[in-house]
Amino acid sequence: MTHDVLKEYRYQLKPVVRGYNHRTLYVNLSNGEIREKPVSEEMRKKFIGGKGFDLKLMWDATRETTQWDDPENEINIAMGPIAGNTNYPGSGKSIVTTISPATRIPVDCNVGGHFGPYLKFSGFDALEIQGKADRETLLYIDGDQGLVQILLAGEIPSDSHLLTEQLTEHFAKDEREKQHLSIVSAGRGAEHTWIGCLNFSYYDKRRKAMRLKQAGRGGTGTVFRDKKLKALVVKFSSLKGDSNHPADLKTVQETGLRLHREILALDDEQCRMRRQGTAHLVEVMNDYDLLPVMNFRYGSHPEGNKLASWVWEKRFTQNIPDGCWFGCTLSCAHAVDNFEPKTGPYAGQKVMIDGPEYETVAGCGSNPSIFDPEAVLEINFYCDTYGIDTISFGTITAFVMDCYQNGILNRERTGGLEFTWGNWRVACEMLHQMARGEGFGLVAGKGVRWMKAYFVKEYGADAGFLDDIGMEGKGLEQSEYQSKESLAQQGGYYMTNKGPQHDEAWLIFMDMVNNRLPTFEAKAEALHYFPLFRTWFGLQGLCKLPWNDIEPADNAQQAEPNKVPEHVQNYLDLYTAITGESIDKTEMIRQSERVYNFQRVFNLRLGHGKRIDDHPPYRAVGPVTVEEYESRVERYDKQLKEQVGVDPADRSTEEKLVILRKFRLDQYEQLLDAVYGRRGWTPDGVPTPEHLTAIGMDLPEVLALVSKHLR
Ligand code: SF4
Repeated sequence: MTHDVLKEYRYQLKPVVRGYNHRTLYVNLSNGEIREKPVSEEMRKKFIGGKGFDLKLMWDATRETTQWDDPENEINIAMGPIAGNTNYPGSGKSIVTTISPATRIPVDCNVGGHFGPYLKFSGFDALEIQGKADRETLLYIDGDQGLVQILLAGEIPSDSHLLTEQLTEHFAKDEREKQHLSIVSAGRGAEHTWIGCLNFSYYDKRRKAMRLKQAGRGGTGTVFRDKKLKALVVKFSSLKGDSNHPADLKTVQETGLRLHREILALDDEQCRMRRQGTAHLVEVMNDYDLLPVMNFRYGSHPEGNKLASWVWEKRFTQNIPDGCWFGCTLSCAHAVDNFEPKTGPYAGQKVMIDGPEYETVAGCGSNPSIFDPEAVLEINFYCDTYGIDTISFGTITAFVMDCYQNGILNRERTGGLEFTWGNWRVACEMLHQMARGEGFGLVAGKGVRWMKAYFVKEYGADAGFLDDIGMEGKGLEQSEYQSKESLAQQGGYYMTNKGPQHDEAWLIFMDMVNNRLPTFEAKAEALHYFPLFRTWFGLQGLCKLPWNDIEPADNAQQAEPNKVPEHVQNYLDLYTAITGESIDKTEMIRQSERVYNFQRVFNLRLGHGKRIDDHPPYRAVGPVTVEEYESRVERYDKQLKEQVGVDPADRSTEEKLVILRKFRLDQYEQLLDAVYGRRGWTPDGVPTPEHLTAIGMDLPEVLALVSKHLR
């Protein structure tokens, strides 16, 4: 296999200093331009790194009119100052941003694998890819030689598991060198849908195989393939424990050691991440009526435990340190080896599956009512290798099945596919059609928002009903938690910058189970603090899981245990030890607040990001149908009596639905008012110039843009 060189650029190798390179790499695929960009002190102070750098670079490169498939749209990958250290668990994340085909605003994804850290140690704080190639292209970054090349991709497979193996063999001289490579790719499904994801690889030397972690949400893979990018390859061979060159290595090591000990001592009795990964959540969610079932109609199912953690624990190959970056003792990145798919192009072959994680089990399992673990594994494998986001695929499949049950779709409209609940073979066939770019797969691959409009236009479907049951916000499919009984979580989903993904705020237990957020003020405070705290992981290149999926033994006795104060202190210590700059908890939140508000303003610039964009589909808020109401009649009747002050006796279910709906939607509006007030935004959700100035996000172009929206 040869890959002809189209363009080449040599750069001077320099060590990272205190977590930063102070330069980024710009590549334009349209004209072959490759250059370095310096990181100004203002950019570093205001945007910190990771998602902050990504968004700033993208803001500068795009305009108010930029569409997702314009050449000027970018795919940016950045790390952050803490990323790449091997001492503190969960320090190897990359953050990908692009203007999303699904939402038409920036989407950001936090992803494991070795690409980001290797890119950083190769000399760059971020990679900025603009333009579109006219032929299938590879981008190769050699951090050993200081070399960047745009290469012709030639004849290489599209599906990620094959493509990654083949490119690794090609670029590695020997077995040892495979560990020094990481590849980013998107499969065939990403070419034909708006829900394409990116696969970030790392070499698993115990399995002697390439593993894949996904930057899943919002169509990052779709933009990647639209640019005719087949893969990014990075090589870096000199990783050391101090490659980040921290200001104070001893503190970094000691902080990491404390957490390693805590994980080893407590994980078995807490979340069992080392044995089960995030799949441990399935039975908990089923027990608390929070597991999405039948397109979020219900929160539990008698067969829910067929997908429970113990099922996955048996399937995961155990006693292998499954961390997605060096030094992560929490090791939740499990895999199923020697799986034999029953359908599609790899039927009968033995393949490895990365996962499944909770979101995949709930999205591709319980939500479309598929309670067969083998079927979930099959969908997981094909989604990954085709470059399809499992969360969007799961929510789309559940929506399509709901439409089928309600007569909006039928065999004629689906090309013969019978979308009855639990029919995993049609779900797989739809997935294969997405990969082949044909049939109903092309319709479903455009996502729930697009399908709603299409079904109204083509089939005369009831727009109001579709708006109620189409589980998307801002164009992004909701991730896999039932939010009906938690007002705070409804806000956690639908007041997000990118759309309903739980990585901004996951407040269900605090709100619904433990009743710690009884007032609008308390909910608003949580919807201020937690999205900002979690944003901080994206600025630094950190994984969120070691923050609260493992907790110190005495955490419950601490003030504000939901914040896990000891771990917050760890992060402050880590930041100071790496960068040499001391910050406290207030400044930590301020760092995030600047970028969070900047992202909100970016949404405004692209014509979104106002109150109207923060509204949920009603099914995220309450029961849509008589059937849903009656399935939890005791609960809803009690709420009518105690919260609304209406006696449910002698009222029809239809009447009660209307009253409950009015009450719940009004509560949501009150929550919006409270949250916007706490965030320093107008009642229409626009950050005020005064607030932006107070937090230091006072760039003239940002202030000018919000002023335009306030006039
Ligand atoms: S906790 Fe899991 S996802 Fe996070 S860094 Fe560790 S292995 Fe990766």
